[in-house]
Amino acid sequence: MTALSNIDWTKFQDDREIVAYLKTLPRYRNSFLKSAWRRALFFLHLLYCRTFNVDKPLFIVLVTNNNCNLNCTYCYGEYGTKTTEKNYSTRKFLEIIDELKGLGTQLLTLHGGEALLRKDFGDVLNYAKLRGFYVSVNTNGYLVPRKLEELRCADTVVLSLDGKEENNDRYRGEGCYGKVMKALDALETIKMPTVLSATLTDDTIDDMDFLADLAVKRHLRIQYSILYNSDYLAKKTGRQLSTDEIIRKTTQKVKDLRTAGFPVYYSENVLDAAINWPERFEEKREYTLADLPKYEHRKKDFIRCYHGRLKYQIDADGRVIRCWALNKADAPNIHDLGLKGALDAVHEDNFCQHCTYLANNEHNALLDLTPRSVAHIARIQLADALKFLVKPTRGATVQREIISSPTVQSPHAYTAPSRKVMTIKPLAACGSGPVRDNCGVSVQGEHPDRSKRERADPEQREHLDR
Ligand code: SF4
Repeated sequence: MTALSNIDWTKFQDDREIVAYLKTLPRYRNSFLKSAWRRALFFLHLLYCRTFNVDKPLFIVLVTNNNCNLNCTYCYGEYGTKTTEKNYSTRKFLEIIDELKGLGTQLLTLHGGEALLRKDFGDVLNYAKLRGFYVSVNTNGYLVPRKLEELRCADTVVLSLDGKEENNDRYRGEGCYGKVMKALDALETIKMPTVLSATLTDDTIDDMDFLADLAVKRHLRIQYSILYNSDYLAKKTGRQLSTDEIIRKTTQKVKDLRTAGFPVYYSENVLDAAINWPERFEEKREYTLADLPKYEHRKKDFIRCYHGRLKYQIDADGRVIRCWALNKADAPNIHDLGLKGALDAVHEDNFCQHCTYLANNEHNALLDLTPRSVAHIARIQLADALKFLVKPTRGATVQREIISSPTVQSPHAYTAPSRKVMTIKPLAACGSGPVRDNCGVSVQGEHPDRSKRERADPEQREHLDR
């Protein structure tokens, strides 16, 4: 792909001409060997960086667009359906990808808004694969059956699903559950490694078992994101997973499911760090440099942060941030500083040191290369890559007896530990990996007023360019 590395995108007249060119490129077909090699390469580069203390943007969350065809109640994103001026053009999208390649990026997570709304998405995804990235795609699933051929080259797809049909659709929109099921069916036909991403609220915490069972039956991994409370979100919905006690018990429940062998995304040490977080969740979820002396004696309980060192997020409006939790309106912008300049500016801001956010810490644990995490993640990556080879047999199960620990129930109840028999799949597909990013909800960024948001039918909004 030497030729691809030398393309000057400014020589094309416009985005239309660029897309026409992209369509002439060979289609990347993923396979077990190719995907396994990309996963291994990421580890090798990470090993190099950690051994020689080199910081570079190995792992990038690239927000492709600020449009979305859903209107989830708890969403904080400024995902207006009509405005496209904040999204970068196809040319800029490709220039970013080229520059990231030059800076040493190995892993790209693409999400929006709804990434599949970009008309150029499939062609750019194909280009990114041809350039040698490991690529994970986040989607709400609505367009997956229609864009299945485009998704075929990805390494992993992450689908949002919060619970049983009634509860899921209450937050994400009527008909959403059915669309996700259709997306799962479609992804199964192309043997795509798939992760379910569930955002937990008061209404959906009782569906954690249901989701875990679904993940087993459909050979998926399951990631639970905690919806932290905030004035904004509480005012908007009145129903959140809000108190410290419930959040802690919910996290314990995630750990219990993992211990029982369900394919839960998180490592044990990541869950422990959240369960044992010294502060009340409503009050403090991050430690800055200034906090550290006070907690020196508990340092081993925290996961070291590598966001802003080995991982960054680039938003569709060009802002570069360390992670979604630090989503500042005045963050360094690639349009002002260039990509390298903006990444450097974020790298210098090492204010935030530790936090309790599960998905962020899963990535931190990976980037830290702690032996426990490496063993866990390597096993998962192999299992995921193998999915390209094997067509799953839906519902292949074994019975295993587990002792369930205290069960979280809404609203704010807590049942005693009990013994029950759960039908589960062996552990082969369990755990986490470097291929995902959080779909959880930030409570720190600026929360736009979305009251003017048009509530068009999702199918009618698919015409949006990017
Ligand atoms: S919030 Fe967590 S992941 Fe984000 S920069 Fe702070 S410590 Fe790192």
